Parts: sequence; C-alpha cells; structure tokens
Amino acid sequence: MKLSFEERILKLRHPFILSGSQYSEKKVIQTKLEWRGQIGIGESSPSQYFGEPPESVCECLVSMQSLLEKETELSIQSLHDIMAHHFPKNFSARSAVVMAAYDAFGKSCALPVYQLLGLDHKKIPRSSFTIGMDDKEKIKVKLAEANKFPILKVKLGFGDRDFELITFIRESTDKKIRVDVNEGWNKEEAARKIEWLAKQNIEFVEQPLPKEDWKDMAWLKARTPLPLVADENVLVASDIPKLKDGFHGVNIKLDKCGGLWEAQAMIHTARALEMKVMLGCMISSSIGISAMAQLAPKSDACDLDGSLLISNNNFPEVVSGDGKIKLSDKPGLGL
Ligand code: MG
Repeated sequence: MKLSFEERILKLRHPFILSGSQYSEKKVIQTKLEWRGQIGIGESSPSQYFGEPPESVCECLVSMQSLLEKETELSIQSLHDIMAHHFPKNFSARSAVVMAAYDAFGKSCALPVYQLLGLDHKKIPRSSFTIGMDDKEKIKVKLAEANKFPILKVKLGFGDRDFELITFIRESTDKKIRVDVNEGWNKEEAARKIEWLAKQNIEFVEQPLPKEDWKDMAWLKARTPLPLVADENVLVASDIPKLKDGFHGVNIKLDKCGGLWEAQAMIHTARALEMKVMLGCMISSSIGISAMAQLAPKSDACDLDGSLLISNNNFPEVVSGDGKIKLSDKPGLGL
C-alpha cells in the first residue's frame, strides 16, 4: 500500500460564523492510496476543536506512510484496526486513509462503495443547507441560494439574536428548519428557546449545551418538545450508549470518528439504542461528501452541504441544488 497526500485550501463562499468562531477558508489534506492495482482518493478536513490541526494530520500521515508501505494484503477491517491501534486520537487523518481504501476497493471490484455495502440508493434523505449567523442582507443572499432546498440548517447560539434570526427567516419561508447551537446555550436558556422554537416548524435541535454538560441533557430531554441530536458530544460508537438518556439522535461525521468503517459501527450502535442517525460533514470537497453519502441510505437525516459552501470544489457535486443526494454509478466514491 503506497500512501501519498497533499494540502489544499478550500475557499468559503461566505465567512462561516459559529457560536465561538469564524473562518473564511479551510485547509484540507487529500490522500492517495495505491492498493489492489488502483489509486483511491480520500480527504481529511481536520478541526482544531477536536484536537487535530492540519499539521498533526500531516505528521500522522507521514507515520502511516512507513507503516503501510510494508503491507499488501490488508483488508479494510485490518487497516482500520491497525490505524486505530497506532493512532487512536488521529480520527481525521485515519478517515482520509480509510476513505481512499474504500475508493480503491470499489474501483478494483468495479462497484460504487454503497453497492459494495449492499445499500439502496432510493432510500436517501435530502440534505439540508446551512445558514450561518450573519447580518440581514447576507442572510437574504443565503436564503436565495438555499431556495430549492427543502430543509435549512440554521446556526444558533448567539443570545437574543437567535430569536431575531429565526423570526427573520420565517418572514420569507415556512420550510422546515433544523437548528444547530454548537454548545451555545445553558440549560435554562435551552429549555426556554426550545419551547419557543417548537412553534416555528423546527425539525430538531443539535448540540444545545456544552459537551461537558452532557449530564444536564437528561434534564433537558425530559422537558423538550423537539428531538435533540448530539454532535460535539459524540465521536465514536462507544460514546453513544451514555448519550441515550440525553439525546434522541447522533450526528456522525467521518472526520470525528476515524472513517467509514467506524461510521457504520456508529449507525448500528445508534439503531440498537433506537436513536436517530444523522450524517454530517465538515467543510469538504466532493471527496469527503461522496464518502459520507455512500452511507446515506442508512440515515434518517443528512447534512452534507460542505462542498456547496466552497467556491473551488475540483469535483462534480454529489448534492444538487435542491438537496438531492445523487450517488454515482461509477466505482469507488464515483469521482
Ligand atoms: Mg453541529
């Protein structure tokens, strides 16, 4: 197995403003894995928040290069296990290698990854489109861009501006909204705001409280009229059982969990606990989006707009302008 990688800067169409941070470009690391006579491609979109700055991904990939060059007969299962053993905290770096392995494997079998996994492309929810906090003029532009999407995902966690933003959006559309608070509320504020949001055609609330306050989530879950979805609180499958008392669902992302192998374990764990499955993404090119989209038939909700938020995607879009996720018939990740 021969691994190589290069850094790329993805440019955002609009600066991304979250509860607690703001950025206008994103550094990703794109991988190539030569295996089974094919070249598979992958992508890491690392996050300082999860303890993986781009430099640490590159360092980890250099270590993986020497580890993998001696291997020719590895299965994807063994590849996942070996990397999880040697690099337990390098989730995003591992994801980019596992992704490339699935792409190469699919190409060597002449099948798209979702078909290798036996999944039905007709059972895919539409993706939401993210509206970040901004001034009213810019929100209007973003709403126009999202015009054909059936579901909006609105970033909250900005004090009283939360009410203003939802009220402003509701003046122009009554389409379904899911909100993502990115840990921006305390529990009383959450209870009060969710009570109000429940009257605004809101689908669910993602990560209302700081991840350290996960025990307060049981208090909130007992009161909430809206479903609650964990994001910052959940990385891997073994995180899920303890969240069952506080959340109705989990947001799975490849860069958080270490890749497509672990993401499937997460889906099965959530299902066993009768929790909802949401598939999310970081800012990515179509490489990262297509990889996560391969599992979309197993999900209840998709938020896979990461490549629509950038202006320099080098690949065809997987999510169309109305939120439909189109899995390619081409082998591997289909790119
Ligand atoms: Mg989130």
